[in-house]
Formats: sequence, C-alpha cells, structure tokens
Amino acid sequence: MPRERLAVLIFGAGIAGCSLAYHLARRKVGSIGVYDPRTPAAGATGRAGGVVTEQLWNEWDVEVTREAHAEYRALARRHRPDAYSENGFVRWTKDPVAAAVLLEAVERLRSWQVDVKAVGPSELSRWMPWGRFEDVRAAIYSRHDAVVTPSAIAELYVEGARQAGVEFHLGRAGTIGPGGRPVLELGEERWDAESTVVAAGAWSKRLFADLGHPLPLVPYRTQAATLRPPQAPPEVFPTGHDVDTDVYARPEGPGRILAGDGTELIEADPERFVASGDERFRTHLAAVFSDRFPGWADSEMIAAWAGVCTATPDRRPLVGEVPGAPGLYAMTGFNGFGVMRAGGVARRLADRIADGPGSRADEELRVVRPDRFHVPYPPFAPRPGFTLEAGDSPRF
Ligand SMILES: Cc1cc2nc3c(=O)[nH]c(=O)nc-3n(C[C@H](O)[C@H](O)[C@H](O)COP(=O)(O)OP(=O)(O)OC[C@H]3O[C@@H](n4cnc5c(N)ncnc54)[C@H](O)[C@@H]3O)c2cc1C
Repeated sequence: MPRERLAVLIFGAGIAGCSLAYHLARRKVGSIGVYDPRTPAAGATGRAGGVVTEQLWNEWDVEVTREAHAEYRALARRHRPDAYSENGFVRWTKDPVAAAVLLEAVERLRSWQVDVKAVGPSELSRWMPWGRFEDVRAAIYSRHDAVVTPSAIAELYVEGARQAGVEFHLGRAGTIGPGGRPVLELGEERWDAESTVVAAGAWSKRLFADLGHPLPLVPYRTQAATLRPPQAPPEVFPTGHDVDTDVYARPEGPGRILAGDGTELIEADPERFVASGDERFRTHLAAVFSDRFPGWADSEMIAAWAGVCTATPDRRPLVGEVPGAPGLYAMTGFNGFGVMRAGGVARRLADRIADGPGSRADEELRVVRPDRFHVPYPPFAPRPGFTLEAGDSPRF
C-alpha cells in the first residue's frame, strides 16, 4: 500500500486539533492532515459551556486565554456573530475563608492586566434579579469576559484551515500504527508525517499508551444543562459562578440559560461514559437554584448532558514534544478549560513545530511541556478546575 508523508498529521478534530490546523496552515509548514473518527466537536468541545474568563490562577493561562479570546471575537465577528458575546463573569462566595482568597486574587489578577474588581450583593442583585445574594461575603467581576459557542468556533477553524489547504479525514474508522512515526490507515490509504500531534481530548490517554508513550492523563466526566427559567432572562447578563457549590450559569440565547457544575473526581472512560445528565446533577442544580436563584427555581430543564475532560497532575495542559519521541507532540490535558485556551495554545504549538526546539515558542510552552513529568507517573485523581488560589493546590 503506498504511503503519503505529510508535514503534520493531527489526531483529533475538537477545538484543539482544529485550532492547531488553522495556525499551522498560517505558518505554511507544508501539507497538513487532520484525522478524527467522528466529526469536528463531537467530543468535549460540542458539549462545553463556552465560558471564556481571565479569572485564572496563573499568568500563563491568562495570557493564553486572552490571545484565544481575541481570536474567537475576531473570527466570530467576521463569520458568526451569534457565536460570541462579551457578557462579563462574576463569581461569589458566602464562605469567609474563600472570600479572603477571592479578594486576594483581585490584586494578583490586576498585576496580570486582568480588568477585575470586587463587587457586592447590590451589584449581583442588579445583574441577576432572580438571585438572592444577601449572605455573599465577597464577589469579583471581570467585565470583558465572554461566552462562545464552542462547536461554532471549532467549525470556523475547520473552514479557515480547509481554505488554506488542510485535509480533514473525518467520520471513518481507521487504525493508527505505533512506531517512531505513527501511521494512519484508512482503508487503502496510509499516511505518516514528519510531525504527529495527538489532540484527541479524553481519548489521548489511550492513544499515547497505544503509541508506546504513555503520559499522565486522567479523563473525567462533567455535566451541563440548558434550562428555560419561568421568566425570560435578558439575552446578556454576566456568567455567574457560585464558588461554594461550583455551579455556574450563563445566557444561552433567547429565554434560555446554560448551567453546569464541577468535576467528578474519578476516572471516566470516553468510550463508555454516561452521556446524559444524571440524577445527582439534576438534584444538585435544583437545590442550588432554590437556594441561590429562587426566581429560577421552577425552570424547565430542556436538556442535560455530560462530556469527558482530561486532567493532568498539576492542572496545566500537556503541550509540546513528547520525551523520547522526536516528532510526536501532545496538545491535550486541558482540565476543563480547553475551549477558552485552545486558540492561544494552538498558536504557540504551531510556532514551536514550525520553528523547532530552542525557539521562542518552545520557551513560551516551557511550563506546559510534557517533559516536566517523568516515568513512572504516580497515580492521581482529577481536581476541581475553577479555583483562584495561586500555585497548583486548589482549596475549593
Ligand atoms: C459539560 C462541559 C462544560 C465545559 N465548559 C467549558 C467552558 O465553559 N469553558 C472551557 O474553556 N472549557 C469547557 N469545557 C472543557 C472543554 O470542552 C474541553 O477542555 C475542550 O473541548 C477540549 O478540546 P479537545 O479538542 O482537546 O478535545 P475534544 O473536544 O474532546 O476532541 C477530541 C477529539 O478527538 C477525537 N478522537 C478520539 N479518538 C481519536 C483517535 N484515535 N484518532 C483521532 N481522533 C480521535 C474525538 O472524536 C474528538 O473529536 C467543558 C467541558 C464539558 C464536558
């Protein structure tokens, strides 16, 4: 069987693989192929909440998210204005310990040029009159944060990449052979590449293991739902995150909201997870709404679902060349924040592949490169993603 050698072959057409294909095409690295046995955004991307916030816990994440955000805004304004809305993001707590952490975060975030300020129950009540906030001890608000439709952004990347000549091989079962250069076989066709990137979300753990280069990744399940409150909320209001219960809610088109809760702290199998919203999730949302959003207590649940995200031991993604496997790269391990970061991470990884080791981009990726971990990888459990504590040990 003849084999075609590409410059870059990407496994996975979620927002990670699609944004990478787009950025690689802009760098004119040569022929690029993307393979996904499903369709773009069939994984976590198509199930995500689409919250984009700079209320993050380290400067690297803030910079990457800021760059991704600017790109999503520009792409959406040009082609899909309904896929982007700058609505702001506010989080609050009634817990005195968490309140101190939130307020401490304001100065730190400002030192990273995040436009954030402390607000009080009166602002919360004004923005979200369906809520009850008199017990809130601290709240912080970043007005430039946004929400996007993740599948639409992924499709815009696909479109841009296709126009630049990237070939997408989608919806076909293939085999990926291990070896120095992984080979993709689709029927009679075979491809390998100078550089291969695994951007397969929750499936990356299995894929890297099958390629003989395991990485410390743990897939885990998380859930979201769309609801119709009894009285239609405004089309734009800030995304709200209740730190104490880990429930967030955002506008989702006319008369609807999208709400979700945190992380399941056990490993999930992306081939066999429960894809619908479960009873625990529905009950949790209902309880939090009655307590915190009494005006939404009687909301109709339109749909509830789950998706599988990918955790790493330090909650930072795994991006860059895999140790001991020249030409094999990872772009995964987004710990539940892959939509907001993908564009900025993709630009950096595209530059790294184009410019090589020791380049500026290699340095930009230093904190997330896979070579920060060493075999044997100790077992670890996923940890909650939404936290503002500096460093790598979340407190709530
Ligand atoms: C309910 C929920 C809410 C979320 N909310 C947010 C949010 O508000 N903001 C945010 O930033 N993030 C959010 N996330 C996280 C976000 O969805 C992910 O971090 C992000 O989508 C990961 O993108 P990805 O491209 O790495 O993975 P995925 O989108 O999962 O894509 C991986 C792709 O790899 C493909 N694949 C599988 N096996 C193979 C193979 N062998 N070869 C090639 N391809 C393969 C799959 O078919 C899939 O299309 C949320 C996630 C969920 C589930």
